[in-house]
Amino acid sequence: MSEYVVIGGGLAGLSAAFNLARAGKTVRVLEEKPHLGGRTASWDYNGMMVESGLHRAPAFYRETLVLMAAAGIDLDEALVWGDTTEICIPNGPSAVYTLSLPRYPLRTLGNIFGRNKLCSLTERLALGMFFGMGLIQHALRPASLDCYSVYDYAKKFGVSDRAIERILVPMTEGLFFLPPTRYSAYVLFGLLAQGGKHPLRTGLAAFTGGMTKVLAEPLAEAIRQHGGTVETGCKVTGLLHENKKITGVQVGKSVIQTSNVVLATSLEPAQRLLRDTFGAVDWNKHLLSLKPMPAATFQMELNRPAWAKDRVVFAPGTCMTCFSEQSRTTFTEKSGRLSIILSEPEKRLQQSPAALLSEIISDAKRIGVDLEGRIENYRTVLWPSEFYYLTPGNEDLRPPQETPIKGLALAGDYTRQAFLTTMEGAVISGKKAAQVLMEKNSS
Ligand SMILES: Cc1cc2nc3c(=O)[nH]c(=O)nc-3n(C[C@H](O)[C@H](O)[C@H](O)COP(=O)(O)OP(=O)(O)OC[C@H]3O[C@@H](n4cnc5c(N)ncnc54)[C@H](O)[C@@H]3O)c2cc1C
Repeated sequence: MSEYVVIGGGLAGLSAAFNLARAGKTVRVLEEKPHLGGRTASWDYNGMMVESGLHRAPAFYRETLVLMAAAGIDLDEALVWGDTTEICIPNGPSAVYTLSLPRYPLRTLGNIFGRNKLCSLTERLALGMFFGMGLIQHALRPASLDCYSVYDYAKKFGVSDRAIERILVPMTEGLFFLPPTRYSAYVLFGLLAQGGKHPLRTGLAAFTGGMTKVLAEPLAEAIRQHGGTVETGCKVTGLLHENKKITGVQVGKSVIQTSNVVLATSLEPAQRLLRDTFGAVDWNKHLLSLKPMPAATFQMELNRPAWAKDRVVFAPGTCMTCFSEQSRTTFTEKSGRLSIILSEPEKRLQQSPAALLSEIISDAKRIGVDLEGRIENYRTVLWPSEFYYLTPGNEDLRPPQETPIKGLALAGDYTRQAFLTTMEGAVISGKKAAQVLMEKNSS
């Protein structure tokens, strides 16, 4: 009998499995896809190497960096640090923002207090009130922010529509797909508050290779070195239980007996497995009512770089809400490599790749990038239902890692932890789920 089974080989599952294996437990990770990493992955997509989407790890992601180091990943080899981001207004101005208080204190403070091509002094004062009061409210009564959209909260402080479009759209749509009118103020200030706790840990890291290669596979290797097994192409189709105790998992026609399961899939498969096994009951009814949210990305290989630096660029008011050239960091074997996070993900699920390509070419022109004749290959990478909606009112529906079923813990970026739907959130949720099971077994 396998002592601990982890369902899902994304960051949450790998984090849970590593913590269990390191504590001396026998662990078996079962991942449905042929590659590891989930939404933090890279793979060959019909002849083109793609990634799950443009990813950056801010320096305040402590648990992610600790996990990587503990698994023997050389952080200097796996990550390349950048200090700047850019906001580009279509047919308008652009501004580069420096994000490193320790290395460039004046330039970083200048983002807030200095001259700025995007917003007037009055607009910056209103934004200052918005950010300041939001962070204070988050410190005092965080849950109360989940009643507001970012747009409504910004309007309380007189932030102009222009400043919302230029500064807040990049922070909501660019980072997590939704416009300020639909994005919970709790989510925005929740993440800012985590960064604000470590003002000296600034900078944004890109990965120096595909994320499966530099992150997920080395984590799996560390789990194997501690005696665990990690299997891909293995879809769990059911959870087995008796008298509110886990007894095993179903994989097609086979049964794997176990009394401990970490369910570390993304939201929608977790809901399906829990609903099929336990029905909608008191302890899972909130979780079952969390609505899954899509995300959409577009990736292209070019005959030369699309941008002067491999930095994160936000282009509010275009379909390329956030993008980065990646040929000097993650895809160094390519002459040019653009990774784009698309606005309005629901709409993108219905759009053909050719229609999307022509919209991107036209929007890229509006920010000064001529892609015509330079594209060698392209793919869309869609995530139809992996996230939960970051709209107001959902925070209370997120479940804890612990469940009332003996031997069952939940992990995943949708489970409750302070870093929301991020790599750091996934890593923390996995660590917590492992702790929950180990503590229950020792009591
Ligand atoms: C485009 C995009 C950009 C992003 N950018 C950033 C960023 O810059 N910074 C950041 O911190 N975060 C970013 N994220 C978010 C981050 O990737 C996720 O929060 C994190 O990867 C979630 O990890 P997870 O393990 O919770 O879920 P997942 O990665 O979704 O892992 C779940 C795993 O379970 C597997 N699975 C599902 N069902 C079954 C089953 N029945 N049996 C077996 N296995 C199953 C899936 O195949 C998957 O591998 C981004 C995500 C996307 C999509």
